[in-house]
Amino acid sequence: MALHILMERVALFMPGIALDGYILIQALNRRQQLKKHYTGNMVECPICGGKQSEFAPFPNAKGQANILCLTCGSHKRHRLMWLYLREHTSIWDKNRPIRLLHFAPKSFAFHAFSKANHIDYYPVDLFPRLYRHKGKTKIRKADITQLQFEDNFFDAIICYHILEHVPDDRKGMAELHRVMKKGTGWGIFQVPIQHGLEKTFEDFSITKPGEREKAFGQWDHVRWYGSDYPDRLRSVGFEVNSDQYVKEFSKKDKERYGLPGQEILYVCRKPE
Ligand SMILES: [Zn+2]
Repeated sequence: MALHILMERVALFMPGIALDGYILIQALNRRQQLKKHYTGNMVECPICGGKQSEFAPFPNAKGQANILCLTCGSHKRHRLMWLYLREHTSIWDKNRPIRLLHFAPKSFAFHAFSKANHIDYYPVDLFPRLYRHKGKTKIRKADITQLQFEDNFFDAIICYHILEHVPDDRKGMAELHRVMKKGTGWGIFQVPIQHGLEKTFEDFSITKPGEREKAFGQWDHVRWYGSDYPDRLRSVGFEVNSDQYVKEFSKKDKERYGLPGQEILYVCRKPE
């Protein structure tokens, strides 16, 4: 509880990243306790190969069922991204060196990217001290609205569930666009989308964690994105492909790999 309060206080100054740290610590503590309850091979994590009777519940008060891989800590959306990266990008092609910017890296991704010799890896966070990841690469401090990198620098950018925490998200998007390589660069920029909401809802007079949870679905979110989310990305110059990749899987495989029901992947490019 004390940790939760501390994280909430940090989150008042920069939300989002603190929550990730909180969830990580919670998950690490519970994973070992949970493992014995989920022994089996009905589901299989495509990231780490771990098998369980089913995926474990989400480690928070809501406790949604069938989410968590107890070996690598991945959730549904992480497993979908991983499969997409493997099947639809050249990120693992050892013959194609790539410079990758990665916001708020989860442990499994950090270790995989960090170990790959052909990936020039830049994991970043506003609060790098919150991370326990250890690898040859260090997590650098970076503010998405004011990146320290030069223009046209990155071949690929992964920015997963970050922008919903950032008050000036358009500035963040413009920075992602600025540092992406023109022509060949690409990025995956995921946010939670409120289904049925056409226009993104934000109200900056709502600042208290409890009020934000009510208004935006999570105590450190500053908006609910609607179906106009890709238009915001386009407004800073991105070409956006709203990829319904998850539809390529059969019901059986979706269950086996524990994938989300209908997540759209927003794959962005910076045209010449
Ligand atoms: Zn796993």
